[in-house]
Amino acid sequence: MQVTEIYKSLQGESTHAGLPCVFVRLTGCNLRCSWCDSEYTFQGGHKMDTEAVRLEVMRLSPNGGLVEITGGEPLLQERELLPLMRQLLEAGYRVLLETSGERPLERVPAGVIKIVDVKCPDSGEGYTFHLENLETLNPHDEIKFVLSGRADYEFARDFSNRHGLAERVNAVLFSPAFRKQATGTRDSSHCLLDPQELAEWMLADAVPARLGLQLHKFIWDPAVKGV
Ligand code: SF4
Repeated sequence: MQVTEIYKSLQGESTHAGLPCVFVRLTGCNLRCSWCDSEYTFQGGHKMDTEAVRLEVMRLSPNGGLVEITGGEPLLQERELLPLMRQLLEAGYRVLLETSGERPLERVPAGVIKIVDVKCPDSGEGYTFHLENLETLNPHDEIKFVLSGRADYEFARDFSNRHGLAERVNAVLFSPAFRKQATGTRDSSHCLLDPQELAEWMLADAVPARLGLQLHKFIWDPAVKGV
């Protein structure tokens, strides 16, 4: 597999936020979201076989716990990724998979918790989510929308309602996008959409979703990688 980094930190943006988690960040992405904070994953990285990845996860978190496979787009390496996720589940880890839902999700093991980041129009990659993937969702999965403004919010609200997402998954997350070059202060001034404004829209529309903030960007400098 082509791997950008493996590290331990706190999970930052799901219902698991705040829990210790080993991140396996795979190299390569087929999308180019306007606010992407992971462009360093597009190229480079180093080759590791799945056994070496599994051993590194076990070294960082020997007693089980949370492992998140992220990227880039992890499913671009599906051939190696599927056995790795099965091995981690068998070893007792809770496995999260962060994906855009642009690739088929049907072969992802049922025990894996999918966090599907449905792209909104202002990302520049709107409408890349494959609707067939809705049928692969399990009650423990989560759907995330990263929002830059009102148009994104309305897309997420309407998409959620049209497809009854709140009934299909554990959580629907609406999360303000962060400015790409954000650095220095660790506060919401770096959000492209003011969380207060988003909260007010969600309350006004009674949206069955959870407002999420990228927790790690309020703990560490938003420019720091590997946290
Ligand atoms: S899918 Fe993720 S890694 Fe790829 S461009 Fe979008 S935000 Fe960046």
